[in-house]
Amino acid sequence: MRVNVTLECTECKERNYLTSKNKRNNTERLEVKKYCPRERKVTLHRETK
Ligand SMILES: [Zn+2]
Repeated sequence: MRVNVTLECTECKERNYLTSKNKRNNTERLEVKKYCPRERKVTLHRETK
């Protein structure tokens, strides 16, 4: 029950990361602090639809 999700930078909207999540344990939108290469800093990344 794992689905692939894309993580998008909330500041510049660049899609920087691909990951997977367990749909059963994680029904909410994923939010992770990650490094954005475009801005060259750590920003909040959110799962896209
Ligand atoms: Zn960014």
